[in-house]
Order: sequence, then C-alpha cells, then structure tokens
Amino acid sequence: MRKDVMNNKVSQFYRIEKHCIRCGFCLDICSWDALDAPGKGRAFTIEEDLCPGCGICVDCCPVGAIQKVGAGEDDAAADR
Ligand code: SF4
Ligand code: SF4
Repeated sequence: MRKDVMNNKVSQFYRIEKHCIRCGFCLDICSWDALDAPGKGRAFTIEEDLCPGCGICVDCCPVGAIQKVGAGEDDAAADR
C-alpha cells in the first residue's frame, strides 16, 4: 500500500521545527513510520522519502512544531 501511495507522490511535505518537545504523539500517529526520534534534546525529524504528506501529524502536535515545507513561498511567488 505504501508503494502505491508513494507512486502517486504528493508535492507537499512537512518539517519539524526546533521547538518540538519530543512528546512522541506524531511518532505514534504516523502510519508510514516516517518520523525519527534523534538523540536526546533534538527535535524529531520527518523522512521525506517515507512521508507521503498526509498531514495527520500536524493536528496532533501540541506545540505546532510540524509545518508544511514551503509554506508562504507560494504567496511570495504570487506577489512577484
Ligand atoms: S504527514 Fe503523514 S506520513 Fe508524513 S510524517 Fe506526518 S503523519 Fe506521517
Ligand atoms: S507531536 Fe510535535 S512536539 Fe510532539 S514529538 Fe511530534 S513534532 Fe515534537
């Protein structure tokens, strides 16, 4: 199933900001095992090769640390 979805790759992915408090909610909710918990004190990361961009983790983050990659860039381009 994962392979099928990855073949229909969506263009928007997500990144995790430094203020991640390492609660692990996103890790538990991601069906794609796309999240990594790096060493102590460091923000979680998302492996883009595994993340199809479903966006489910965004709403589970209590501190709003999961952001869409390129957010705001489309607006900037539209202003040019
Ligand atoms: S956007 Fe979806 S697939 Fe990507 S890390 Fe979040 S829950 Fe996992
Ligand atoms: S849900 Fe948010 S704060 Fe919790 S580990 Fe994931 S990115 Fe970090």
